[in-house]
Amino acid sequence: MTVAEKFEGKVIPPMHDDGQGAVTGEQFLARLRQNPPTLYIDGGRVEDPTTHPATANMCRSLAGLYDLQFEEDLRDTLTFEEDGKRYARSFMEPKTKEDLKLIAESHRIRANYGLGFLGRAPDYMNANVMAAGAGAEYFAQCKPEGDHKVDFAENMRRYAKFVRDNDLCLTHALTNPQVNRSKMASEMPDPYIALGVVKETDEGIIVRGARMMATLPIADEILIFPSTVLKENADKSRYAMGFAIPCNAPGVSFQCREPIDVGRDPEDHPLSSRFDEQDAFVIFDDVLVPWERVFLLYDVELANKAYAGTDAVLHMAYQVVNLKIAKTEAFLGVAQSIVNAIGSGGFQHVQAKIAEIIIMLEIMKGLEVAAREQATVNKYGVMTPARGPLDAARNYYPANHQRLPELLQLLGASGIIMMPSKADREGPLGPQIDKFLQAGNASAEDRLKLFRLAWDMSMSSFAGRQSLYEKYFFGDPVRMHSALYEVYDSSEPVLRIQEFLKRK
Ligand SMILES: Cc1cc2nc3c(=O)[nH]c(=O)nc-3n(C[C@H](O)[C@H](O)[C@H](O)COP(=O)(O)OP(=O)(O)OC[C@H]3O[C@@H](n4cnc5c(N)ncnc54)[C@H](O)[C@@H]3O)c2cc1C
Repeated sequence: MTVAEKFEGKVIPPMHDDGQGAVTGEQFLARLRQNPPTLYIDGGRVEDPTTHPATANMCRSLAGLYDLQFEEDLRDTLTFEEDGKRYARSFMEPKTKEDLKLIAESHRIRANYGLGFLGRAPDYMNANVMAAGAGAEYFAQCKPEGDHKVDFAENMRRYAKFVRDNDLCLTHALTNPQVNRSKMASEMPDPYIALGVVKETDEGIIVRGARMMATLPIADEILIFPSTVLKENADKSRYAMGFAIPCNAPGVSFQCREPIDVGRDPEDHPLSSRFDEQDAFVIFDDVLVPWERVFLLYDVELANKAYAGTDAVLHMAYQVVNLKIAKTEAFLGVAQSIVNAIGSGGFQHVQAKIAEIIIMLEIMKGLEVAAREQATVNKYGVMTPARGPLDAARNYYPANHQRLPELLQLLGASGIIMMPSKADREGPLGPQIDKFLQAGNASAEDRLKLFRLAWDMSMSSFAGRQSLYEKYFFGDPVRMHSALYEVYDSSEPVLRIQEFLKRK
């Protein structure tokens, strides 16, 4: 029995070359309805994520993000034209520093849409596939033993074009299940707890196992990009691989975490009712990945160096820096609005707390400018932001972000907990609420909306998940610090100190 027969013909269709470029929100939603990702939430299958109560609002938010591309005043920033079609700006291969600036502007506009709280808006993975497509030759180094006629470089190039041409939304999953971190994937109780290649067929590879975390599983496709997290003793490993498949590929399931969006009014839960991007555990139950979608096989070193070798990590980090600038600006805006609302701006410690946010913001803005100004053209012809400032930003922000919600708590105090809901305001105590919970400069309604936002940024379950996300989304901070230590060239300062010590 061939694999195609096993799946009763439900194999992944070939990639097509007729994409229209940037899509509207409605087109994105129609695509999700037609090919819903295989999501499981609260013990049940999500038949249509655009209507399911746990995902519908997020789908609407994503649609809004796609629609921004067609707004008259944003179109030229958020998209670019090539051969008569328009594509999302984040797919553009930057050739100059001006290109990078345009990309930064588009990242910021899109980040502001979610006040910086949409961690994995499609731009992030767009930056990944853009860089991987431009650096596709990296994958030509992968030469598995045996009679392989697969052109991995061409596969990567075609896939990047396919994603761009169809404006696809991607999720990704790098890490293996947490079962036992003192063991390698090959030492687990079952060889297919970690995602691994089971066998090759004429049609492609069969993969089995799981990956720990994919944020934004409400997506068209999942990219299993080779990453630096694979530790194996051998040079060749079934756990080293790179591929992409649709999120409804036969055999793939996403087990989502408990929803944070609990269907409350956006006035009461301004962020959680809009931006619950979801996180899912991804199970691969003998999934056939067609050869045209395989980018790398068995080579541990190539897998571990793929992000660095294609510079994808830098373009993704550049998107992240811009996103975090938007997020920090949102904290500043809310913090200052609270201070204005309750008239606390004259107190020195309050001013110092706002100053802390300003300093964090200016550090991130400075690192973005430095990364852009020190950008160089890489060996694939792509203008690539500089690593030093980006490494600083992606180590600095996770270590310091936690102070932002804390500052909102310190500035808002009881105001962030004493927040009658919209229904309360419209209920029998409405007139009293209007009187006692007004602000120095605003009505109770406006004050409560502001404090509800502060709560969703600093106290709610949405805020709690954000807090964990900020600590880990780019990897384990402990190992990121080590990686920085390993790559940073400190030889000049060391030499200077040695020379100073020799001075008579
Ligand atoms: C909200 C959220 C969203 C995420 N979204 C995504 C996503 O979309 N895609 C994706 O691929 N990943 C995602 N991640 C996962 C993220 O990449 C990982 O959390 C991160 O790489 C750390 O891995 P881990 O969670 O498996 O932690 P573990 O590796 O299990 O670490 C747990 C603890 O053990 C320590 N530890 C483990 N191994 C070592 C070691 N070798 N040396 C030193 N210390 C060690 C760690 O420091 C940590 O304290 C997300 C994570 C979170 C929290």
